Amino acid sequence: MTSPSASESLQTAELQKLLKRPLWSQRFPPHLERRFRRDSAERSTRLTRGTFTLALLVLATYLLIDVMTVRRLADPIVAILLGGICGPLTLIGAAGSYVPHWHRSLMRLLPFMMLIVGVAIAAAAGRCLELGLPPPYELIVLQLINIQLLSGLPFRTTFPVALATAAALALIEGADQADPQRLVWNLSFVLFTLATCSLGSFLGEQVSRRSWLQARLLNRLAHHDELTGLYNRHALILRAELLLEAAARDHCPVSVILCDTDYFKRLNDRLGHLAGDEALRNVADALQQATRRSSDLTARWGGEEFLMVLYDCDRDAAVVRAEAAREQIQRLRIANPDVDGGILTMSFGCATQPVGVRVALNTLVGAADAALYRAKTSGRNRTCVQPPPEAAGEDALSCPAAQPAAAAARRSPAGD
Ligand code: GH3
Ligand code: MG
Ligand code: MG
Repeated sequence: MTSPSASESLQTAELQKLLKRPLWSQRFPPHLERRFRRDSAERSTRLTRGTFTLALLVLATYLLIDVMTVRRLADPIVAILLGGICGPLTLIGAAGSYVPHWHRSLMRLLPFMMLIVGVAIAAAAGRCLELGLPPPYELIVLQLINIQLLSGLPFRTTFPVALATAAALALIEGADQADPQRLVWNLSFVLFTLATCSLGSFLGEQVSRRSWLQARLLNRLAHHDELTGLYNRHALILRAELLLEAAARDHCPVSVILCDTDYFKRLNDRLGHLAGDEALRNVADALQQATRRSSDLTARWGGEEFLMVLYDCDRDAAVVRAEAAREQIQRLRIANPDVDGGILTMSFGCATQPVGVRVALNTLVGAADAALYRAKTSGRNRTCVQPPPEAAGEDALSCPAAQPAAAAARRSPAGD
């Protein structure tokens, strides 16, 4: 539940740039490649399972038909190659693909297993030629289809394995085949299969890379604020409700801090909206640094307002965190020439969900907003908190860490 870094907003541009590349050159930088692999793992699990189950059935049927017809398995070498090597390896693959925690190891072993199976079938074909029996070309073709189109492995892994299988067949056949015309015919048949499967495997992967990029971009645009890269309000609400629920269950306090930049309109009016945007990006970065724990959330709540949701953070800790962020923003010394002090400051309002109680996010934000209003009306550039329930009614809101304000101006109902 980590908040995205403000600098992660670059990712949107990065994704858009990658999407502009032609279909045949969809290559990812390492950090995206890792995520793509991880996200494709579920799809490849299903593919591997289906492939191995199907391969096992096909091989069993093939061997059964063989026993009943041409009887290639009567030869001990063919029996060892097809029944003793291909059979058990396919069985291990099929069984392994049904055990979830074996899947990772299986995916690593898969290329080697497929290579051994491919070379064993090629060797069986050579032995059949030697004996004057029909070679099992159908198995080679099925093997090429399996590795390249159904295995769920990346193209850069499947292609060398498929190529090595076809090359093994070419070498073995070349050594055994007396009839050159037949040799050319057999090999062109296998090469044609190899080329078709390679093209299918390559294009299939490129298409799935592109769909993944599109899904990722849509997801980013739906959950992040374009200017700052922080979560947007919608994304924060989804995550914050879960966090509040979990905290109530785990007997942890959660604090929300509503943050509003002081006299931001003056900055815009004096320096222009582009400078305003840059200031918001810097403020977002500073707030993001203040919520460095992975369970914390930071979002752009709207306009020049931000919301932080801090897990396992009580009222006092929230004030400390808000004050740290406030001081950090002061240290940035972002120019706001039309206010006393000449720099941009920020006001903070905190509210806390007490231990063991479930409070709706709306209620907490309302309380934080009331505290923020108090921070604004009592001088800005400060942190105010919602008092604990027992104090309510005495002093409606308290500002324990009131700081010298940059300006003593009061918040007018209509802003500036
Ligand atoms: P206060 O201290 O009372 O909060 O005063 P304020 O001027 O910060 O508040 P007000 O609500 O009057 O003005 C907020 C301004 O923030 C107005 C709006 O143009 C500006 N703003 C909101 N979103 C953006 C943005 O994305 N970029 C820029 N540059 N300005 C924005
Ligand atoms: Mg403001
Ligand atoms: Mg505001």
